[in-house]
Amino acid sequence: MLNAITKAGFLISLAGNSDKEALRKLRSQTLFCPCCKTPVLLKAGSIKIPHFAHLKNASCSASSEPESEYHLLGKKELFKLLISHGYDAMLEAYIPEIRQRADILVRTDSQILAIEFQCSTVSEAVFQKRTNAYIQQDILPVWVLADKNVKALQKNEYSLSTFQWLFLSGPSNKAAIQTFCPHRKQLYALSQFIPYTKRKTIALKSLLPPEALITHSFRQNIRGLLPYLPQWRAYRSSWPAKRVFSSNAKDPLLNSLYINHISPSYLPVEVGVPVKEMYLFETPSVEWQTWLFLDVFFGKPQGALISLKECNHAISSRIKQGYIQMRNLPLIEASGFKSVIENYILFLMNSGYLHRIRKGKFRLVEPFCIAQTAEQWHEMEKDFYFKHQDHFQKKS
Ligand SMILES: [Zn+2]
Repeated sequence: MLNAITKAGFLISLAGNSDKEALRKLRSQTLFCPCCKTPVLLKAGSIKIPHFAHLKNASCSASSEPESEYHLLGKKELFKLLISHGYDAMLEAYIPEIRQRADILVRTDSQILAIEFQCSTVSEAVFQKRTNAYIQQDILPVWVLADKNVKALQKNEYSLSTFQWLFLSGPSNKAAIQTFCPHRKQLYALSQFIPYTKRKTIALKSLLPPEALITHSFRQNIRGLLPYLPQWRAYRSSWPAKRVFSSNAKDPLLNSLYINHISPSYLPVEVGVPVKEMYLFETPSVEWQTWLFLDVFFGKPQGALISLKECNHAISSRIKQGYIQMRNLPLIEASGFKSVIENYILFLMNSGYLHRIRKGKFRLVEPFCIAQTAEQWHEMEKDFYFKHQDHFQKKS
């Protein structure tokens, strides 16, 4: 930690510039943890930045040690960044009611925010408990991920663990993960998520101004849509082979396809398209769209009626069976999966497959086609993305 108190209760902070002489003076007195009040040691070696550490065997509800250099530096730099932008910020603020120490507490005219710069992985239960505790105290938790832990696979493609997905926050149509790099002193937002699998996702990484942490205004300011279609199409084309290769004999999705005499390779190209907010599902979009195809669209002739209600019911049943999983996203303001299904139906409507009769009721104008050969599938795929590319690249 970067704060300690003297015997008389005065706060000593290492957040500012501490030269050797100042550190030498500090060493000559006994200092205490501001939370548990036990003595702490000043550590000013050559590896980590100067910081305080509890004595061995101390148990402190507010602190988990050892703290990594990246975490210490991150707190310090984030704090300095906020102060330099005129914010009323407090480093390592202990909140006795909940026995939690926020990395940084910020007071604005309208609210109090707790900024947590997270480098180590904690369990979902701990993440949730800390989040809830802040909310109970009317404090808005702002979780910021260590930038070095975000693994880029290639340009605009990332691998995110279940833990890292927890950091996704905001309204579901403007969701973002905030990251901070203490070396570059730079905040970033990952947004526009288009996941292929549970972990892998296309996403846009953009720079954030420091005030974005407090005002969340960046959610309106993230500009520039990803040119993601080539990546998506490559993934979708290779999905059947990979899926079959990695499955076992009891695989419910593949079995359902075989029962209906559909080869995964010849699934309609309309199944497995990227739609807005689809990150809400942990199950890849090809899979939930396959279930929707099998349960609702398959075998229906041109002119047949389709309702949003039956689509939602189909998905809901498959979730209950455990064949489709939702992501655990405690910071996202969304209710279930319905907005994603609506976005898929909207796409089908805008691209001429469905005609809306009235609210929630549609007529099937163009049934999906199952290919007969691999060549035919690739032909259909090319035509489909040529015809509908504008729908995928549309803003908002
Ligand atoms: Zn302590």
